[in-house]
Amino acid sequence: MKVPFNDLTWQWRHIEEGVRSDFDRVFASSQFSSGPFVEAFERQIAEWLGVPHAIGVNSGTSALHLALLSAGVRSGDEVLLPAHTFIGSAWGILYIGAIPVFCDVDDETGTIDVEVARRLVTPRTRAVVPVHLYGQPANMDAVLSFALDYDLKVIEDAAQSIGATWNGRSTGSLGELGCISFYPGKNLGAAGEAGLIVTSDDRYAGRLRSLRNHAQTDRYVHAELGFNYRMDGLQAVVLTHKLPLLSAWTKRRTELANQYIAKLEGLPLEIPSVRHQTHCWHLFVVRTPSRNLLRDALSKSGIETGLHYPVPLHRQPAMSAYVKPGTAYPVSDRWADEGLSLPLFVGMTDEQLDYVVKTVATFYR
Ligand SMILES: *Cc1c(COP(=O)(O)O)cnc(C)c1O
Repeated sequence: MKVPFNDLTWQWRHIEEGVRSDFDRVFASSQFSSGPFVEAFERQIAEWLGVPHAIGVNSGTSALHLALLSAGVRSGDEVLLPAHTFIGSAWGILYIGAIPVFCDVDDETGTIDVEVARRLVTPRTRAVVPVHLYGQPANMDAVLSFALDYDLKVIEDAAQSIGATWNGRSTGSLGELGCISFYPGKNLGAAGEAGLIVTSDDRYAGRLRSLRNHAQTDRYVHAELGFNYRMDGLQAVVLTHKLPLLSAWTKRRTELANQYIAKLEGLPLEIPSVRHQTHCWHLFVVRTPSRNLLRDALSKSGIETGLHYPVPLHRQPAMSAYVKPGTAYPVSDRWADEGLSLPLFVGMTDEQLDYVVKTVATFYR
């Protein structure tokens, strides 16, 4: 048996008909960049997430860049974020000339450890970027009360967490601004690059709509440094057809995750722990000191796995200027060294999951 890490063709089969006929409408109207298809998707997803404003952009990375800019983060400001995350969590901070301040993470969930963040606050700290890693919300009660104490803006990196909630609210809608990625492999994936910023603040929303479109405030008038970060009409169509299926897809991911948790129990590896808030299971990451050997054994049995992420931000060459000498990140280091992402995708069969579990069990025997 072969178990891929993901299978996006399964999703395509479920939307193919509708997408093809709507692609015809995009070509017939030539509304390729921004325009009515993007606006329709923005309204649809704003309602789905329960947010007043959803602003489509061309990637999750662009979303984070513009969210930080519109929140007023400037060159020289410090921004707190977890050390254990995808590199895309950090680029927007660097694009602005602000300073990323890496925080070690919580051992159980791999999300930002707010007690660590508290110790790293200085008079230059402006914002905090919690990352809802693997689809599990960071502890937003702790993040929000911390931000209140120090008057920090909260920009959520919800790139992996569409469908996950905190106290009944969509992740991304709890801070000033939230950023979502529609990279193809994300839970809601485009057929290429796309992203979204959500906010409940009218002023942020207005500025974001201008910034993504060359900072155009009136026709031919550009108020400030702008960007070409617009969303494509074709991507909006793909997302419009996938969004109504996302709740069912998240339910299936949750079923698969719960099967893994039940069936892997008793084996000498750490299975993900789930807090009471809903998790959308973007990734299913186990931890074991024999990660590399287990990965090889699975690979030899036809099972693809992933590493998310083997090099934490404080060990990235591009970030070396921002690492304070003598700062240790023991928890992030362990996630990076021991984490292994098992296959979990909508369209995965129970038989495939049982085969993965059996192969893991055989490895430990
Ligand atoms: C995917 C991702 C991003 C970046 O999104 P892109 O759409 O790939 O630019 C940022 N942060 C995290 C945690 C991600 O997983």
